Amino acid sequence: MTWAPLLRLQEALGPDAELVLVGGAVRDELLGRPHADWDLATRLLPQTVMSRARAAAMKVIPTGLQHGTVTVILEGRPVEVTTFRSDGDYLDGRRPESVVLGVSLEVDLSRRDFTINAMALPVGGGDLVDPFGGQKDLAARLIRAVGDPLLRFAEDGLRPLRACRFAAQLGFEVEAATLAAIPARLEVARKVSVERVFTELDKLLRGVEPNRGLTLLAESGLLDLWLPELRPMIGCGQNRHHRHDVWGHTLQVVRLVPAEAGLRWAALLHDGGKPGTRALGPEGEAHFHGHEARSLDLADAILERLKASHALRKEVAALIRHHGTHPTDEWSDAACRRFLRKLAEDALPLDRWAAFRLADQRGKGLNLETREREHAALMVRLTLMAAGAPPLSVRELALDGGALMALTGRSGGPWLGELQRHLLEAVIEEPGLNQADTLAVLALKWLAGNP
Ligand code: ATP
Ligand code: MG
Repeated sequence: MTWAPLLRLQEALGPDAELVLVGGAVRDELLGRPHADWDLATRLLPQTVMSRARAAAMKVIPTGLQHGTVTVILEGRPVEVTTFRSDGDYLDGRRPESVVLGVSLEVDLSRRDFTINAMALPVGGGDLVDPFGGQKDLAARLIRAVGDPLLRFAEDGLRPLRACRFAAQLGFEVEAATLAAIPARLEVARKVSVERVFTELDKLLRGVEPNRGLTLLAESGLLDLWLPELRPMIGCGQNRHHRHDVWGHTLQVVRLVPAEAGLRWAALLHDGGKPGTRALGPEGEAHFHGHEARSLDLADAILERLKASHALRKEVAALIRHHGTHPTDEWSDAACRRFLRKLAEDALPLDRWAAFRLADQRGKGLNLETREREHAALMVRLTLMAAGAPPLSVRELALDGGALMALTGRSGGPWLGELQRHLLEAVIEEPGLNQADTLAVLALKWLAGNP
């Protein structure tokens, strides 16, 4: 969306509205970053915003009147317009007891979390309103609390996590006093609802420097509130295949996978089972037999606790389940096809598995050239094979269930599934067999042996 519809809204609301763009949108505009939402603020009370916008034939929804917020639809997109407000006392470390509408813009900005989020840009033109030095902190790439961080983090326990999130999203540092206030406010942070925590963790992971955000979580103690199972990864030594300990490797993989939720969460959790399965071999080398299954259980328990969506849990589980499989030159074509079938059964596209594997390999930090060359060769083989669309499920057999029943004169039953699996095994072994007449011969032969 461009400024033009905002100007029309400004016209509709009138000059006394003092309509300004606030918060993340201002920060992102100044940074030249794309942003999803445009948050606006005004001196007008919500009822006045509604009546004036409606008088100009704009669609308005009273989405949060008690907080001073109405949503105006501009060019088909919802834009929140909130009355300048201050927050009453915070008693529970989560939400203000009350909000006071009709305060000045400066007071509104002072309730905001960080200086870079506490600037306003007048829609009708005019200077940036920046009472807390947000622009200077943007230039210095610093996340700094508005006011005393100890007080601000006592009001709302989500703010420490948001500091780490913005550090990861923007690649900024958290200013020293702001950072130092986090450990002292962990008990407040502990009270925050899991939904708000998940949203912030998810944004942190999808940031440009998720490893920076995760390191801040670990160092400040926030990690132990929401992801305590990951703490043993720190300092958990590995073997000659790895440059880093399990946590260091994890940070690398999170950074190296594309910035999509499934891949990033899987990267964070894929080796969570390593500390619990660590054992030393005869040569004194560490190994982690069965860690994939342990990581899988741990990841799912964590994502369930954080109320992640079913789709995310499924994708993360599939990525973790298959991250320890490394088809080599010695694998037969049939073995590779069986592997492709497993990916298909888990609805995991080959390219996503590959993106994860490549990051996992690179994250080992040793013999990178060899690993990348091997990965590329493996992917040529698997991609060519997948492009040939070999039958990988019973649905793709040249004879379907109906045809098999007609052929054998039998009605449906467990035998049918067994026969189909038998035929699929044969076809995966040798795709050329997937012809109706060939399968008919195989089916009748199987039936003779399984009356
Ligand atoms: P994003 O790009 O993720 O939307 P954002 O900065 O816009 O980042 P929002 O959660 O959309 O973040 O909040 C909008 C604005 O509201 C923030 O920029 C900040 O000014 C203020 N804000 C949000 N959450 C808090 C909070 N917990 N405490 C104080 N101010 C907050
Ligand atoms: Mg926002």
